[in-house]
Amino acid sequence: MIDYMKLGDEYLLHTYNRYPIVLERGEGVKLYDDKGREYLDFAAGIAVYALGYGNKEFNDALKSQIDKVMHTSNLYYNEPACIAAKEVCYATKMDRVFFTNSGAEAIEGAIKTARKYAYLKDGSTDHNIIAMEHSFHGRTMGALSVTGNEHYREAFEPGIGDVRFASFNDIASLEDLADDNTCAIIMETVQGEGGIYPADDGFIKSVRKLCDEKGILLILDEIQCGMGRTGYMFAWEKYGVKPDIVTVAKALGNGVPVGAFAMTSKVADNSLVPGDHGTTYGGNPFACAAVIEVLRQFKERDIVSHVKELTPVLEVALDELKEKHDIVSDRRGMGFMQALELKEACAPVIAEAREQGLLIISAGANILRIVPPLIINEDDIKNMQIRLDKALAKS
Ligand SMILES: *Cc1c(COP(=O)(O)O)cnc(C)c1O
Repeated sequence: MIDYMKLGDEYLLHTYNRYPIVLERGEGVKLYDDKGREYLDFAAGIAVYALGYGNKEFNDALKSQIDKVMHTSNLYYNEPACIAAKEVCYATKMDRVFFTNSGAEAIEGAIKTARKYAYLKDGSTDHNIIAMEHSFHGRTMGALSVTGNEHYREAFEPGIGDVRFASFNDIASLEDLADDNTCAIIMETVQGEGGIYPADDGFIKSVRKLCDEKGILLILDEIQCGMGRTGYMFAWEKYGVKPDIVTVAKALGNGVPVGAFAMTSKVADNSLVPGDHGTTYGGNPFACAAVIEVLRQFKERDIVSHVKELTPVLEVALDELKEKHDIVSDRRGMGFMQALELKEACAPVIAEAREQGLLIISAGANILRIVPPLIINEDDIKNMQIRLDKALAKS
């Protein structure tokens, strides 16, 4: 038998300390490794596999598109891209969309859009961007430049220019940084990698107001918290504010690599024009067939209501774990994007959970991140609780 861990360690660039299992296939909310061991998956490939594994209608939609054509380039129209564009605009309540291959690329596009918008307004090129401390927007140079974790950025400086970091949920710190040259404020509606911190209601409303007063574009990064995860199609809906530009990825393709940035017509009509931006793969028929089927199933199965209905069940289960185990200091989150903060490092708990047949991930050294597929039921939550209870007791 081939030792895949050894093979990977020998040839894959060592940018990840991978967990020591080889995942082979999935069914529903379960994953199986190459030894046939079953894992209840409360990680969903980092908030990606929202509709579960082995989803027959989804797989069939992809197969049928493969048999037609997978790629055409954006030099021509293709059926899935045109349909997916309309569906994504409906879902995001935006007017125009550009498809990318990843979340980071969606951030790049959003930044370019904001810069072009500001450039057309005043003809200058010295605009700044305000991002948040502890934010995460991706690993490409532009996305990295607006990521609020210095450790991720340091070795790769200089970034893309004048980026300023405000404290999340602190409007005064934002007001101090904003000036006439600020072209965009970028933030996650619910911070993900930074530790699962939802925006305060007052904060996000004040940010919107500040943007309107100063003509700054608000970019909400909903790559992780969007697509139903919080019990809203997009998390901003809870606050009643709307961004000017939104970035989407992760669950958008249910495992097929695809992202998007979408914007209002006011932004679209005053920013990127032919020649300004492009992608060879982005929005290809294969990726867009995935997007169409994902959004179709969201509607048909009313995924958003399902998340909303089951959120209290998940929260109660996690609160019970918090009450029972001294090492848990906090439970927070929105919908199926939850965190258990520990008083110590969470790596041993994650390892023990895996031994118990449960996959969970972290968001920082001592924060357990719970981002299951959106189709979990009450039994799955009970099972998670039993397994995580054992893991917390043992570590
Ligand atoms: C994952 C993530 C990204 C980056 O997406 P990639 O597909 O990994 O490039 C950006 N923003 C947020 C909020 C994310 O969670």
